[in-house]
Amino acid sequence: MSAPGRSQAHMPARDRAKGSPVSRPGPPLWLLAELTYRCPLHCVFCYNPVDFATQSSELSTDEWLRVLREGRELGAVQCGFSGGEPLLRDDLETLVAEAHRLGYYTNLLTSGVGLTAERAAALEAAGLDHVQLSFQDSTREVNDFLSHTKTFELKSRVARLIKEQGWPMVMNVVIHRLNIDHIDRIIAMAAELGAEYLELANTQYYSWAYVNRAQLLPTHEQLRRAESLTDAWRARLEGRMKIFFVAPDYHEGRAKKCVNGWGSVFLNVAPDGTALPCHTAKMLPGLEFPNVREHSLRHAWYESEGFNRYRGTGWMKEPCSTCEHKERDLGGCRCQAYLLTQDAEAADPVCEKSPHHGLVVQAVATAERGAAEHPLVFRDPVSSRRLGACAQAELATQVDNETGAIATR
Ligand code: SF4
Ligand code: SF4
Repeated sequence: MSAPGRSQAHMPARDRAKGSPVSRPGPPLWLLAELTYRCPLHCVFCYNPVDFATQSSELSTDEWLRVLREGRELGAVQCGFSGGEPLLRDDLETLVAEAHRLGYYTNLLTSGVGLTAERAAALEAAGLDHVQLSFQDSTREVNDFLSHTKTFELKSRVARLIKEQGWPMVMNVVIHRLNIDHIDRIIAMAAELGAEYLELANTQYYSWAYVNRAQLLPTHEQLRRAESLTDAWRARLEGRMKIFFVAPDYHEGRAKKCVNGWGSVFLNVAPDGTALPCHTAKMLPGLEFPNVREHSLRHAWYESEGFNRYRGTGWMKEPCSTCEHKERDLGGCRCQAYLLTQDAEAADPVCEKSPHHGLVVQAVATAERGAAEHPLVFRDPVSSRRLGACAQAELATQVDNETGAIATR
């Protein structure tokens, strides 16, 4: 099935839906290299595709080296190495060294598994600038339950190792119903471990988090309390640790400017080489994204249908097309619109003006009544193959909005 406007796919940097020219996009600033979908953890909110187990192809070292060079030539200045768990790639040090030589600011996004003292020293020597370490919670019980691994002690050791290497550390904790009441202890833990930045990332409901949405959505009262405690800690830790509280868009009634604008600053390369404007965009039907094995990053960024389709505002329909806020949020997230309405051009349903906003209101109301009783689905290959048998569109329609239950085949 073709997406609307696809026939004009190769009209770059144009406002295709209305036919009026828009200015040529600037270069990407961020290159995110998703080196692998392999990961020893099984997080219930994982942002990797639900069908990751069916996608085993990975770019070779030489192919990644070319991607890094092309990204820098395009103008990207920051390079994140992510996954899955990027430390599962034996060539990580080689890739970091090349990224450093090319002049990127380099960032490793890791669960900590595999970061031994030897590898930390090698990555430091390769020029790694920055590490983002994820925790699932401040308690061993919840951390280990949510990741289905015994990794809490290991992560604490890795946090100390990161500090010993002299790297600035971002601690990232995905926040949801099952850990939000620990926010006080989470912030205290980050301060004790010497994090310079703490990202309290309210769950965004895509991929595995969408599958588990009914168990993960917090209540208004939980969020209110968490924000107030975070504000108090911000004042106490001023000058020592910066705390980011990523907005919980289901509760806000306002759409976010997703990835700061489609094809605007963010260039993601998936493990198999697919170039994407965000890591979930591959779910959108009828859109073609180029693979770096066949196309240059320059082609992907400036010429490809996938990157041009939702740039700017010309693709919009009502209510976004005549909305006074359309430049502010660019209509919100295309993946969220598609996941909830099966229409990637719809206004993001988290927006109060969306005709589909009732879907989000209903999901939040269900959360207010209490978490769903059916079991969490952990990110593992068996569940991935089971869920991957449903196309994303079918998956979306099979989530029962009243109970949050997900039907699978
Ligand atoms: S969210 Fe968890 S399971 Fe997913 S890649 Fe990160 S550490 Fe691995
Ligand atoms: S209607 Fe569209 S452009 Fe207006 S605020 Fe909502 S999502 Fe943003």
